[in-house]
Parts: sequence; C-alpha cells; structure tokens
Amino acid sequence: MPRLKRRLAAVTAALALAFTGGAAGPAAADPRATEKTPTVAGTGGAVSTVDPEASAAAIEVLRKGGNAVDAAVAAAATLGVTEPYSAGIGGGGYFVYYEAATGKVHTIDGRETAPAGMQPDAFIDPATKTAENPAGTPYRFSPELVTSGVSVGVPGTPATWERALENWGTLGLREALRPAIKVADRGFVVDETFRQQTLDNRTRFAQFSSTADLFLPGGDAPAVGSVFRNHDLAETYRLLAQRGAEGGFYAGALAEEIASAVQAPPRLSADALPAGVPYLPVPVGSMTAADLAAYAVRDQAPTRVSYRGYDVYGMAPSSSGGTTVGEALNILEQFELAGMDAPAALHHYLEASALAYADRGKYVGDVPGVPTAALTDDVFGKERACLIDPLAAAPKPVAPGNVNSYDGVCPAAPAALAEDADTENISTTNLTVADRWGNVVEYTLTIEQTGGSGIVVPGRGFILNNELTDFSTVWRADDPNRIEPGKRPRSSMSPTIVLQDGEPFLALGTPGGSTIITTVLQMIVNRIDLGMDVSQALAAPRASQRNFASGTVTSEPEFIAAYGEALKGYGHKLVPAGDALTSAAEIGAATAIEFSPGDGEGGELRMIAAAEPTRRGGGSAMVVAPAPTPSP
Ligand code: GLU
Repeated sequence: MPRLKRRLAAVTAALALAFTGGAAGPAAADPRATEKTPTVAGTGGAVSTVDPEASAAAIEVLRKGGNAVDAAVAAAATLGVTEPYSAGIGGGGYFVYYEAATGKVHTIDGRETAPAGMQPDAFIDPATKTAENPAGTPYRFSPELVTSGVSVGVPGTPATWERALENWGTLGLREALRPAIKVADRGFVVDETFRQQTLDNRTRFAQFSSTADLFLPGGDAPAVGSVFRNHDLAETYRLLAQRGAEGGFYAGALAEEIASAVQAPPRLSADALPAGVPYLPVPVGSMTAADLAAYAVRDQAPTRVSYRGYDVYGMAPSSSGGTTVGEALNILEQFELAGMDAPAALHHYLEASALAYADRGKYVGDVPGVPTAALTDDVFGKERACLIDPLAAAPKPVAPGNVNSYDGVCPAAPAALAEDADTENISTTNLTVADRWGNVVEYTLTIEQTGGSGIVVPGRGFILNNELTDFSTVWRADDPNRIEPGKRPRSSMSPTIVLQDGEPFLALGTPGGSTIITTVLQMIVNRIDLGMDVSQALAAPRASQRNFASGTVTSEPEFIAAYGEALKGYGHKLVPAGDALTSAAEIGAATAIEFSPGDGEGGELRMIAAAEPTRRGGGSAMVVAPAPTPSP
C-alpha cells in the first residue's frame, strides 16, 4: 500500500477504535476529572498524559486560546500535584517543541545537575576508606544512594517551564500554574496507583518528618477514594507565579531550604520511626544555594534521523534518547520489516536495540565531544546493521562500533566489551500536547525513581529527585557517564516528534528508565512498519533489549506469551519485567498524538490522542473538539 494510503487507512482504523466505546472522552475541564479515555480523535488541540486532571488542565488552557506550550506547562504542573512521586519541581526533564510557524523542532534540556562540590568519589562511603582500603567501597544502590542527599541533582523543571513559556508560550507562569494550584488546593481523588506507590515507598518516606507528614498522614498511605490536598505545594506554585522560577526557586528562601534539605535531610531519629520501619543510612549531599543560583537550562538542537521517509527528532545529550533511538532506526532501515512475520521483525528490533545500546554506553554522556553526528549517521547505522544475523541473536553484550572510522561496509566483528549493569529505575511521566495551530510539545519529566530521594523540602510540598543515581556508580576515567561536578547524568528520556514532509505526523514518549529508548523505538516500528494504528502501537506488549551481559530481554508477560517461543528459536532470553522496587510487570506508560491533514484547503489538522489503556492504571487522552461519531 502506498505510504499516504497506508497512513489514512491506519487513521481510519484508529478513529473507529476511538469510537467503539461510544465515548469521546471528557471534552470540557471537569472540576474533579477522574474519567480516563485512552484514545480520542478530533480537532482544535489534543493532549495525552497519564492523568485526567493533568489532561483536563491542558484542555482548559487550549480552550481559552493558549498554545501547546502553555498547555504543556499547565499539564506538567498538574502532574506535579497528582503524580508527585514521578515528577515535579524537585526534578528535571526534556522538552521537545515543534513550532508550526517555522516548521522547526526545538528542545530544552532541563536535566538535573550535579552540585559544584560533587567529587568523583561522591558515591564511595567515606566510612569505608581505611589504610588497607584507601579507595573505599561504593555505597549500595539501595538503600544508600536512592534515599539520600548525595543523589539529589539541582532541579531543572521550574527553569524548563519558565524558559518554554518565555521562548514560545503566550502565558506567563502565573496563568500557566493556575490549574495546578486549583487542583493542589481542592485536592484530587486517590486511586489504587497513588496508594500503592505510597505504600511501596513507606519505609523511605517514614524517615523524613516532612515526607511522612505529607504523604503518610496518620502513618498510613492515603486511602483509595479519599481526597488528597497539598496546600504547601499550592503555596510554592504561588511563589513561582509571583517571583518567577529564577527569583522564587533558584534564589531566596526556597533555594536555601532546598540546599539545607540536601545537606541535612529532615530525619526522624531511629526511635521516632513507626514500629517495624528500619532506620536508613541516608548519605548527605553537598548542594548549596550557589548551585541553585548557577543552574541554567540548555536550549539545544535536536537529533534528527530520517526513517522510511519520516524525519524523527529527539533529545541530544545529556539524554541518550535521541542518539540511541536514532541509531537503532538507522540500523532497522536496512531491513524490510514490513515484509517479515512479527517474530522476525521483533528479532531485528531487539538486535538493533542491543547495537545502539553498546554505542550509547561507550560514547554518550554529558561530556564534550559526544559523536552525535556519527551516531545518528545512516552510514554508521548501515555498518552496524551488518552485525545482525537475520536468523540468530548475537551473543551479548555486543561491542560498540568505531565512530571514527566507518564507511557503511560490513567489517569483521570486533571483540565484545562487557556493558555495566544498568541501575536505572522506572518511574517518571510523559505528556504530549498539540494545539489548533499545529504546534506540538513532547515532554518527559521525572524525579528519577518513584518517590525520588524520598525527601520533601519541609513545608514546600514537593519531593527532591535522586537523579544523580543515573551516573555510573563505579567511576572510570573513560566512561562518558562518570561523576563530575556540575555535570548532568546521562538520561534515557526520549521525547520524540516525527514529521512527514515537514508537518507533524506523530509525537510520542514514555517513562521507564533505560527501557524508555526501546519503548519509543518499538512504538515507532509498530506504527510505521508493522501496520498498527497509534493506539495499537501504544498498547502492544513490550520488550526491551539493552545489551546486558546476561543477554536477557526484559519483557511484559503478554509479550512472552505472544512471541516467547518464536523468539527463543532465535536465541533470545526473555525474562519477565518487574523487580523488587516495581511491583508492576509492565514497561513504560506512553502517550502519543498522531496527526493527519484536514480535508480540503485549510482543513483543520486532525489529531488522535492516545494514552495507555491499562499500564499504570490507564492514561487520559482528550481533544478540544471531538470528531463526530462515525455513523454505523
Ligand atoms: N532517570 C531516568 C532517565 O533519565 C528516568 C527515570 C524513569 O523513567 O524511570 O533516563
């Protein structure tokens, strides 16, 4: 089928799917929005987030004439209220923006940054440095590093919102924060996911008086169905609204309080902890008010690769998202996936992921000279594609390629290097917003793991991140992700915007730690190569090959059920997703919007907003003007 026809057919299929439930989603801003609709089609603007309150906030802004950037900030701020364990002003993220007026894609790197005083040995327990062991022993990832001041990076989210609004918005922070302030004051209804995430963090949250007071009232997680209010956060947002991020967050009393919460977390003594809650070590950090004052977001060029006629834009380093998704697509472009059966196509997807991950590990970090151009060069991808055996999985880990010498011709296979164990976690949140003018925002934001560092800044209503755990735990001089003062830890966040002939086609992203990259890649392959519409591409079972030395492919149970036997035949080792920290055996919580031109000259851009039907309890897609239900 020709490309345009295939695309229209898929759009029609998705429209049909959107209407099978008979509901087009809550179109207006519901004062206490709880209804979740995973797919909805229409015009005039669209949003997809994990949460109906956040989606309703974006729709409210769009309806009042705000643009996609205004709506994205409103939704993100609302997620800071309703998803406080995944994202908020205590964290960072990456903002990708397609500007309809110029046809350009812009990005903001709002990643958290290591304090100036963070030394290469920051993750070594000083108590273990002795005459016999002068190098000392690293802290354990858990509990020491995850619940600590030492892992808190200088937050980038308030500065990201401010910069996005200044660059492209029509509202100021004051107006953009208004819906979130309303939700924080009047409260939202606690669901299973919120309660469970609180319970999963109970031991960590109980360590800190500020966190226990806010999230464990009466010693327990808030009950399902109760209304959770966060007046402290509403006040903090009001402060930002009045003074701006620079004056209200990165300077003044709040900056001092953040620094002191990092240097001297508000701990309860061991005997003040509830019965059965162990006293955790909680290493302290070095962040000062000067670190906050020095923080700046980076406006930077996106990565770009072309894939089967589409242009795929992503985040350049400090995230590894854009280069790794891009390289994998360049590799996959060498194969006719659309003509393969599903297991064969998935085999290629898994192998391309492993190769791209090998290069991510060797070359990508927040260091000068990352070979972004080579990693996203289709000649490099072509050469890497030589290493895929169409019938058998390569032994893992596969070795990185040589970005300094490649010509697209198949080389002899180099010896494999071991890839470090990956310690990234799954939390974070993602949102996609578009407006009636065709501007599009794809934004992933995080406080790292669910519950971040566990430290609420006393009286301020938000949790500080533990993003610096994304640095390599073991320091090596040749590792681009080694700890250094003032540096940003490597991310996997992959907010992605796909254009076709310069117009938006698809915007997508997801949380999920280092599985983010493969989930975004898999959804693009599902949509462009495997004949799925956008809802199906999102809902399809997922698997993630990250080039671990064990060779294992982290997989959702449905993926194992559907493809396990066939992929075993290729030599893949599928293991169920989920670990001690994450009760759910699922990968990611994606959001997306697909676009198609309206009918006729000047026809309105049509949008299909898609959210997760079930993962993380299901997401929330909304449009400003739902399309009329097609007659049967
Ligand atoms: N810290 C992760 C990253 O930057 C994101 C965390 C997550 O998605 O769980 O890649």
